[in-house]
Amino acid sequence: MTKRLYIETVGCQMNVLDSELLTAGLLEAGYELVDSPHHADTVLFNTCSVRQHAEDKVYSALGRLREWKERNPAMIVGVLGCMAQKDQGQIFRRASHVDLVVGPGQLSRLPSLLCAVAADGQPRLEVSLDRAGGGRGSVAESFAHFDPPRTARRRAVSQQAMVRIMFGCDKFCTYCIVPRVRGPEQSRTAAEIEQEVRHLADQGCLEVTLLGQTVNSYKDTSEGRTVRLADLLERLNAVAGLRRLKFVTNYPRHMTRELLEAVRDLPKVSPYLHVPAQSGSNAVLERMKRGYTVESYRAMMEQIRELLPGAAVTSDFIVGFCGETEADFQQTAELVRWGRFKNSFIFKYSPRPATKAFEIYPDDVPEEVKRRRNHELLAIQDAISLEDNQPYQNREVEILVEGPSKSARKQAAGGELVQLVGRTPCDRIVVLDGPRGLTGRLLRVIIDKVDAFTLYGRLPDGPPMA
Ligand code: SF4
Repeated sequence: MTKRLYIETVGCQMNVLDSELLTAGLLEAGYELVDSPHHADTVLFNTCSVRQHAEDKVYSALGRLREWKERNPAMIVGVLGCMAQKDQGQIFRRASHVDLVVGPGQLSRLPSLLCAVAADGQPRLEVSLDRAGGGRGSVAESFAHFDPPRTARRRAVSQQAMVRIMFGCDKFCTYCIVPRVRGPEQSRTAAEIEQEVRHLADQGCLEVTLLGQTVNSYKDTSEGRTVRLADLLERLNAVAGLRRLKFVTNYPRHMTRELLEAVRDLPKVSPYLHVPAQSGSNAVLERMKRGYTVESYRAMMEQIRELLPGAAVTSDFIVGFCGETEADFQQTAELVRWGRFKNSFIFKYSPRPATKAFEIYPDDVPEEVKRRRNHELLAIQDAISLEDNQPYQNREVEILVEGPSKSARKQAAGGELVQLVGRTPCDRIVVLDGPRGLTGRLLRVIIDKVDAFTLYGRLPDGPPMA
């Protein structure tokens, strides 16, 4: 009998990739995907622990499922990913109807765990060792790689794929739960990554985004010499059929000249760099244990501007971190003005149990102050983003069409046009009207209008936008 799977994913691109790989595997095993937990006999939540809000959402969703599960006891409910690793058995105590708790280092075992639960109805907990639970080698080994062979079946756009090149993180920024829930930093071998990218290109994939929590710390020594991200990009640039290469997320201290030169010199590598600054105050950066100063971050930005003058640089900022004064915040605002980032992801600090900051610093910036700083910084960034987008007006750009936008389905004379979304090589979002069949195509479009977040374009032979 076909089993029906519902999967909900919260969090970063790593989680999106994990869900894609898990779903592809389960579809191969005979599952069918459904769009509501009420139509499913297996319900999976792939979770995130970076902010409290993301966890609250999952616990609420689990709460809403309790009664449904009581009425359908054969249904399997699973919690996967970072929250599973962090909360472990606590999840069963808070939601006794959960059958499976599986950490990110155990995902390859999911199909067999689902079979085991279906066979005996007993709950299963499969997580990796805690960071303090053994030597580095044994902890790393307990976070098993999960990169099964790729199929285009579960990708929203088969011409676009994410490829993991690293797992985990060793930086231990004081606010961050990732090193604990994703384990020690481990790089995949360059040979394995190259093989995966070749396979994707053979399937028609045009754009690959390489993923790592600190992607530019990539280091493979399996070939008797050290292969860094710049070397890996050079190898992948040679893959026939592939047209675009991106990589996220960069750690500021590891942004080397060699890497920037590789971005400059390799034609398939997109001029797009996401390099989170987090704060513009040295006192805050030190409490965050980010491992760099504002001066060194600015020096890195200057090197980017020198070597890649047209590159789009994006950043992340946390406002209201423990002890952040108004003067600290103003220094962050100054860095945003100076950096002229294409865009910034700005978050209010959310204390996370089991992080150093949670243990040693009081969360002493009032919520209304966090909110106000968040709005102020967003307003500064939005004004810059708008200015930054304005030169694109009346320009022709290349986009990879990602498919119809969530909203707006339009009827047009002579056939159905939908609002499509695409991205430029420098990761700018472009919307245009066109037939669905353009999904997955690389196209040249003319930009008629811009705002802070979006470029509005048309096909060269289409009517100009009002
Ligand atoms: S570098 Fe810092 S913020 Fe990024 S994943 Fe590692 S610990 Fe977290």
